[in-house]
Order: sequence, then C-alpha cells, then structure tokens
Amino acid sequence: MAALSSSLFTPKPGVKEYRKFTIAENAYRQEIFLGFFGIYGRLPGPTLLLNAAVHGNEVVGVEVIRKLVEKLDPQNLCGNVLAVPVVNPMGFNAGDRWDPIDRQDMNRVFPGDKNGTLTERVAHFFFENFVPQADYIIDLHSAEFPDEMIPHIRLRLESAGDEIHNQFMNSTGISVIWQGPSVNGMLQVEAAKIGIRCLTIEIGAAGLINSNNVKVGLSACENVMKVLGMIKGKAKIPRFQILLKSNEEWIRSPSGGIFKPDIRLGQIVREGQKIGDIMDPVSFHSGNIFSPLEGIVTGITHQSIIRSGTRLCMVVPFNKECKDQHSLYIDNLPNAQMVENDLWKTIKKTVEN
Ligand SMILES: [Zn+2]
Repeated sequence: MAALSSSLFTPKPGVKEYRKFTIAENAYRQEIFLGFFGIYGRLPGPTLLLNAAVHGNEVVGVEVIRKLVEKLDPQNLCGNVLAVPVVNPMGFNAGDRWDPIDRQDMNRVFPGDKNGTLTERVAHFFFENFVPQADYIIDLHSAEFPDEMIPHIRLRLESAGDEIHNQFMNSTGISVIWQGPSVNGMLQVEAAKIGIRCLTIEIGAAGLINSNNVKVGLSACENVMKVLGMIKGKAKIPRFQILLKSNEEWIRSPSGGIFKPDIRLGQIVREGQKIGDIMDPVSFHSGNIFSPLEGIVTGITHQSIIRSGTRLCMVVPFNKECKDQHSLYIDNLPNAQMVENDLWKTIKKTVEN
C-alpha cells in the first residue's frame, strides 16, 4: 500500500474532509466540478477509492457513498477512503446516463483526454488524480432504466483467474458474479492496465433508489473494509459466489399492453411457470406470459407500459448439477464469518422439490 501522493489534497491522519475540484464550465459558465470526500485514517492501511454515477443517473451508489462517508470515523480507520459520489456531474444533472450534449458513455472513454470533449475531460481528471492513489477501487453502478438486475459483481475477462481480484470480489459478500466481455475505456479495464484492482458492482435500477439496494451496497463496501482490516468487525461472507457466464438474454413481450409481473429478482422459476399478465388497455382482455425455461430471475423491467419486443425479465438457467462449474469457492478470508449463500439456499430448495 502506497502513501497518498496527490498534489490535489493533503491527507491529515484522523481527518474527514470535503473538497470540490473544478474542471470545466457549462455554456452558462457554471462550474463543472467533482465533489470529493477524503477520510484519512489515524492508522496506516490501504487506500480504497469509492466512486459512483460514472453513468449519471445511477444513484444507488451515490447514496451508498453518502451513508458510508457519514458513518466512517477517521479516528478508527486504518488507511484512507477516497470517495467521489458523482463522477459524471453532467449526466447526473440531466438525470441521464450520459452528458446530454456530447452523449458519450463515460465508462467507455477512460482514461479520458484533458483536451477532449467535456465527458473525456472529466473522465481524465478523475482517472489521473484519484485512480493511481488507490490500492482498490469499488465502482458502483446500476442497471440501465427501466431494467433492474439482481445485485452482482461484473467480472471482466482480464481479471478472471487473478487470485487477489477473486478475494476482492469474495470480500464484498455479494452472492452473484457475472462474467462479461471487456471493453477498452471501462474504468475496471483501464485501472487493471495500470495494475489497480477495480470492482464494478451493479445494484438496483438507474434513476431509482430503495433502501434495500442501498443496504446491499453499503454492506458490500463495509465487508471489503473489514476484510482489508480498515474497520473493525467481521464481514458476513457466503461460502461461495454464484458465477454466471451466460449472455444477457431477456424474455421479450409478444404483444403490447400493460405488464404486471408475478415474479421478483432472485426467484427460481420453472419452465412454463407464469411470470406475469399483459393487460389490453382498450378492452377487458388480458393474457398470461410464461417462462420458456427454468432458472433464476436475474433481471426485471420496471416499465409497465410495454409493446412487442419490450424486455420483461431475464431468466438464467441454473440447477444443482451446475454448482461446481458455476461457483467460486471462498477459503478463509481474514476478519470474516462464513455463512450460507442465501440465493443458493433458495435454488437448492427449489431444485430438490
Ligand atoms: Zn453504469
């Protein structure tokens, strides 16, 4: 763990500070800035960078960071927490995934460009000033509205098989890991290129907040900090994490109307089980929609008004025989109490019946 060496902030052990870093301005000459919390522990330890809203409307992580920063006491902290709750202020301001003017996906332009578009400039400032300071990064995201996915860690291919990265994922205590393709410009991918481990955690749906999702994010961050010895306490960690490698395949609506789901995230559905009703808005007719396969509900829409082809839900096939091919077993993590994986308990109960 390296000592902090930024020219931007001067860490004083035992202090919590808020800073504002102005990067650029909008057309009306208002400042575009990044808000930053530094919590500098009284005792030595690693530096953890927490960030959210790289996609401007993914607000669950913003609230997770706000709550965590409020709670952390620098007097009892080993190491440092650097926190940037909103990395994409233009997107946040517009309530949108990206800046409404240059419409670039910030999570495709890291490490950014100081002479580029506004999105690239802000990405550059963040990447240049905060990323190299960190031993570990937690990058908080949500599914793109109107969809919500089961809370999971996004594992990119270049990190798969890295033991320390696996331990970092394990220490969140999040039950599901989803392996997906790597794309240059993603924060996780670009941080890995300079040797910094970054976890992308997906919780909830963009533009929406609920206390359950905030709790999941908060407990993931606190678990990591406990395992790293930054704060006191034992992390509750499932004995293994379910590793999904499938593509995102959504069940789409065969017709238009109003969708009323009968399922929830994390539920196991059987082949042929009813997953919801589609009501005709201009008659008294309604129809049922059924799952074409058995599996876990890993995605669901929050959009009730649907048309032919709208994504309704995602069901990923899973059965008990798959357990060995689809899980990451966790050996004793420091400062952790090993517990059952709740999702796996549900799967087992269903497949055994
Ligand atoms: Zn995102």
